[in-house]
Amino acid sequence: MIVYDISVTIEKTMGVYKNIEEKRPVIKFERKIPKDSINESSMYMNLHTGTHIDAPYHVNNMGATIDAIDLNKLITKCRVIDLTKIVDGITKEDLIDKNILPGEFLLLKTRNSFTEEFQPDFVYVEKSGAEYLAEKGIIGVAIDSYGIERAQPEHETHKILFNKGITIIEGVRLKEIEVGEYLMCALPLKIKGVDGAPARVVLIKDFI
Ligand SMILES: [Zn+2]
Repeated sequence: MIVYDISVTIEKTMGVYKNIEEKRPVIKFERKIPKDSINESSMYMNLHTGTHIDAPYHVNNMGATIDAIDLNKLITKCRVIDLTKIVDGITKEDLIDKNILPGEFLLLKTRNSFTEEFQPDFVYVEKSGAEYLAEKGIIGVAIDSYGIERAQPEHETHKILFNKGITIIEGVRLKEIEVGEYLMCALPLKIKGVDGAPARVVLIKDFI
């Protein structure tokens, strides 16, 4: 069994959405050896920083919050698909030859995985791409950018996917991951009443 960690390392210097300073984590040592008898730290962080899972509540006040997300959709078989040639938005045309089947959880590997810093022109899922995924009946989608949409004031991509009950993971790292099928384990922190949560996301190959 091989375990691939596809999570971003949370640290002060990490890439964050639009490089907004407030989205950077603040990690503070409350106590430190040898001054204290133990090392103990705290952290303040935007819940959409780093690898995280979005809850429907992110774009809809009536939507489910992260503590209510069905974990059956997050410990699941999944498939990594290659979209590394795409430079802008992922459209229906980009997805049409990928043999997408109902019930799949897809991980979209794009050129985003090859840079650590935030790219203002990151690859995202364009409206027609989201509609196609929704129409195909997938159960979830993960992308290697900190946002699955870009420059969409009405947040169509998020809404189209959430309206079909599709789970969204943002900020996975897929540079080292070959296309193909894996078992995925993506567990968001159980925080009451919020719009998303950081997750450690792993892909497992040759699971017995
Ligand atoms: Zn998010």
